[in-house]
Amino acid sequence: MNEIKVAYIWEQNLIEYCDRLPAVLGRASIVHSLIAAYGLLNHTKVIRSKSASYTELKLFHSDLYLDHLKTFTHVEDDYISTAEDEQFGLCYDCPPVSDMYNMVSCLAGGSVTAAKSLLMNVADVAINWCGGWHHAHRFGAEGFCYVNDIVIAIEILRKKFPKILYIDLDVHHGNGVQDAYNLSKSVFTLSFHKYEPGFYPGSGNIEDIGTLNGKGYTCNFPFQGLYTDDTFLYAFDSAFNMIYAYFMPDALVVQCGADALARDPHGGAGLTLDGYCLCIQKIMKKRIPTLLLGGGGYNHTNASKLWASVTATVVGVTLDDNIPEHSFWPKYRSDYTLKIQPLLTKDVNTKQYLDKCIDSIRENLRKYLKQDDKDEHLEPDAKRRKIEIEEKAHEIKIHSIFKKKLVLKNDEIHKTDEKIKNPLDVYDFDD
Ligand SMILES: [Zn+2]
Repeated sequence: MNEIKVAYIWEQNLIEYCDRLPAVLGRASIVHSLIAAYGLLNHTKVIRSKSASYTELKLFHSDLYLDHLKTFTHVEDDYISTAEDEQFGLCYDCPPVSDMYNMVSCLAGGSVTAAKSLLMNVADVAINWCGGWHHAHRFGAEGFCYVNDIVIAIEILRKKFPKILYIDLDVHHGNGVQDAYNLSKSVFTLSFHKYEPGFYPGSGNIEDIGTLNGKGYTCNFPFQGLYTDDTFLYAFDSAFNMIYAYFMPDALVVQCGADALARDPHGGAGLTLDGYCLCIQKIMKKRIPTLLLGGGGYNHTNASKLWASVTATVVGVTLDDNIPEHSFWPKYRSDYTLKIQPLLTKDVNTKQYLDKCIDSIRENLRKYLKQDDKDEHLEPDAKRRKIEIEEKAHEIKIHSIFKKKLVLKNDEIHKTDEKIKNPLDVYDFDD
């Protein structure tokens, strides 16, 4: 795993704009500082993020929405949303903020840069913890998300990778991304989330599997109550492996929202770092181009612990359990350790319930994804061997895609901002 090339997307502006997001004020600095303090940037290529262009933003968003965002330069603290703002979702949990268009283009730019680094073979895995805003829709903001950087990044990846599997680990259903690809066979969306009456956004039940041409290419794994690592891993292992074998993606996009961690103020799940990191290990084992994004996570130090741990998992480093001293060290004052304790609450997701969901997912894959019918007559062993052979062939295909050299027009090497403790090379590139 260690020889994989890992890109970490960074730019001081990206951190600062992300820090200004009303729902996660100041979080990006805490996350980046912990990752830098652990020395993890020495194991990655740091790639300078570049803001997304209007054309790139339009890969998903309507120009009406984008043009409306441009009207906000300075927003007073006591600004009251107008009826037009409300039409674009700019109210309640997504209040208008100053310099909104530039903020959105900078945030989306992080994921666009990450996608390009995969496209241009600069990296095998690209990480943007300032991205992952999965609720935003074409015509507006929703659920703390002003821009759907994920869909824009997927659209860029599709220039080279025809089939993309999107995996959403956030405690909330990834509705914005799912809706964008509801009719698509090229992008398979898989979301694990809490699904209970009154829990936002209220969509994503097991029967929600896509529409028309895209039927069968959406999968939702709904959990009840405070789901634990065991539940999550059991569900993930089954669903991910089945979908991977049937769909055979060319690239993976993973939203690693941290709000399913125990004690998240907006979460209500009970995962620990192990739950997430074991999933990431399984994803990394596939060794295909992978984009890792952030998302929710409203206990900021816990989100930083998670994303530092995921970064470490990807680069193959074991982190010391003691949080290293750095400028945000006092924020970890409960015990100054990396660990996140599990909850003592009972997990109400029974094995019977999980198996029922898994059966339903398997049925849908058989019914709607081609491979099923022709393999139906095979014995389980023969079927497994066939899948292994197909996976091997797929790996060779991916390898050859990686070998294809794309020219970097601008690959000047710069020194990073002084905020990164150990000076590293930063790659800038244009397409
Ligand atoms: Zn969330």
